[in-house]
This record gives sequence, C-alpha cells and structure tokens, in this order.
Amino acid sequence: MLSKLYSGAARAEPATAFGIVLWKNIGYLIDDDRRAALLAEFATRVGANPAAIAAAPRGTLMDIAMRAGMRPQDRVEKWREIASLALEHANGDLDATLRKLPAAKAAALLKAFPGIAQPGADEIMLFTGLEVRPAIDSNGLRTMLRLGLCKEGASYSASYKAAIEALQSQPKANRAWFERAFRVLRQHGQTLCKRTAPKCTACPLETDCPRLLLKGSY
Ligand code: SF4
Repeated sequence: MLSKLYSGAARAEPATAFGIVLWKNIGYLIDDDRRAALLAEFATRVGANPAAIAAAPRGTLMDIAMRAGMRPQDRVEKWREIASLALEHANGDLDATLRKLPAAKAAALLKAFPGIAQPGADEIMLFTGLEVRPAIDSNGLRTMLRLGLCKEGASYSASYKAAIEALQSQPKANRAWFERAFRVLRQHGQTLCKRTAPKCTACPLETDCPRLLLKGSY
C-alpha cells in the first residue's frame, strides 16, 4: 500500500558516494529542498570534488554555510574534513576507491567521514550499487516500529539492526526492492508518520496500525 501511495517518490540525493556524503553534511536540520539548493550552489561556486573544496577560500565556504543551519563554522570544518579524507584515503576519487574495496572495507571507509554511521554507510552502499543490502533512515525506522514491522530495541542501533534484519528476511528482496522500501518508508515518516503528532487520520494504514492499540507510546 505504501508503494502505491508514494509511487512517484523520487530520490533527491546525488547518485555518487561522495555526493551523498556532501549531501548529508551540507546543512544542519534543513529540509531536502533547501539541502538540494545549497548543494547546487556549492557545486557551482566551490565544486563538488575534494580538490576544489580543499582549495576553496574560507570566505566562500562561510558564505554558503551561513545559510545552512546552526554553527556555520562547524559546517566549513566538516566540508574541509571530507575533502581531506577523500584526498588522503581515496586519492581524490572516493567512488573509484570504494569500488575496488571489499564491502566491509568500503563501509569502514565511508564511516570515517563525518555524519556517516552504519545507517549512512548502508544507504550509500545500496544506492550506489556497491552492495545489495537493506538500508533505512530514521524516518523509515520510526515507520517500521510503529507499524510493528520490527521490534524496538534498547537503543537506536538495536532497533536499526532489528529493522535491517526484517528487511533482509523478505524473500523477494533485491536491490530495487530495498531501494523502494527505503524511499517509501522514509517518505511516509516525513509526511504522515511524523515524529511528533503523526497524521494517523490521513494515513491509509490507520485501521491496521498497531500504534492504535499502543496509543501514547510514541
Ligand atoms: S496510522 Fe499513524 S502511526 Fe500508524 S503508520 Fe499511519 S501515521 Fe504512522
């Protein structure tokens, strides 16, 4: 049902691993439209590659960071750290380097970048085709928990692990299925199954949602 509801859900994120790392670090607590606009400006004025970022004047970076959420100076440092890591560990071409590595080492390299923990690494590995593996973001995880599709753990990482295992156990799961699951669960969490005040009366899953039995738990 969610697949039909969000059948037109396009992915706004870039298609490359380096692009997704930048996307996740381009701003703080900003929506996807703002993130896309800032990344486009960044690509035009600075260049979305490690060498260009490393050579960019601090003033240019700060000018963009001032419109990218709180603590702009932290943004600038993260952008420079991303460039430095990509130059040092990937000779300036993160995607080419990742493609040459075994999956576990590729994921470990991704997790060296700011803002990329296991969920981010899984997402990048899946959407760049580095490995067919399930991935879920915080919006999707919240949706899965509320729908009873996985059990809540004692920590975020335990809940995330349970969600990944639930997705992995789907018999027909392949790359396209994992990508679609990521997109629709995320979009449902962003639009209806919001963190605070979910819009249950507008949700097509309302009658079957276990949250109705547990009202007040979220
Ligand atoms: S009924 Fe409410 S809690 Fe359940 S999936 Fe829909 S929005 Fe989320």
